[in-house]
Amino acid sequence: MEYVSRHEWGALDSGKGLSEFRRVPVGVVVHHTTGSAKDPWARVRQHDKFHVQTRGWNSIAYNWLVSGETGEIFEGRGWNRGAGTKNHNHNTISISYIGSGDDLTETGKEAFLYVIGEMRNTYGDHLWVKCHRDLGTTYCPGDDLAAWIKAGMPVQEDQPTSETWQFRLDEMESVGLEFRRKALKKGARGLNVSTLQKRLNQRINAQLDVDGIFGNATKSAVKEFQSMYPIKVDGVVGPVTWRYLWTV
Ligand SMILES: [Zn+2]
Repeated sequence: MEYVSRHEWGALDSGKGLSEFRRVPVGVVVHHTTGSAKDPWARVRQHDKFHVQTRGWNSIAYNWLVSGETGEIFEGRGWNRGAGTKNHNHNTISISYIGSGDDLTETGKEAFLYVIGEMRNTYGDHLWVKCHRDLGTTYCPGDDLAAWIKAGMPVQEDQPTSETWQFRLDEMESVGLEFRRKALKKGARGLNVSTLQKRLNQRINAQLDVDGIFGNATKSAVKEFQSMYPIKVDGVVGPVTWRYLWTV
């Protein structure tokens, strides 16, 4: 799971600030969103723009948003009061699926469970989980997502995300964090470069020598990989490119 802060995705500043909860929330309300943009980052920005500029609200309505495609978790209003559930915003916290709840993925389910776990860690195990449609007249959050919530949020036992693979992802994610400070680029040497070369060979059949030396061939392969995703094509491996190499 990759966490994306408001600052990172570029939340608009309405100048109005956000208000804290005056009482501990009693439950979690699940929403979905629709939108035309393809990648989750662009969708989150679209919703933010709609809520801030069209609706005139302080910020994007939801507390947290999750992507069913990438498993990314976007900070909306975070631990402040939200605006997504009319009449219930003072004592509930919300989480929204990016896209239609009728296209719920296993990755999306995991992200939901992660965020709900964090909410319970923060406010307590008393938090119930309901759908927007339980509290108002709306189709939100879609039939599939609503059915999954009603069923108690089960996850498949035999999904490819085995324990070993999850361990590997976690390990890779922590390695990727190092690249926030110092990106992996031409001239770099070492174990992380070897890992990168191996992964590029797996993902795009780059046929690189796994020598731990980031040269022109590695740079070209990185650019080729980047050009397949909605990320910057610069041949430099930062946390985002690194994450895409392992998660998409
Ligand atoms: Zn809703």
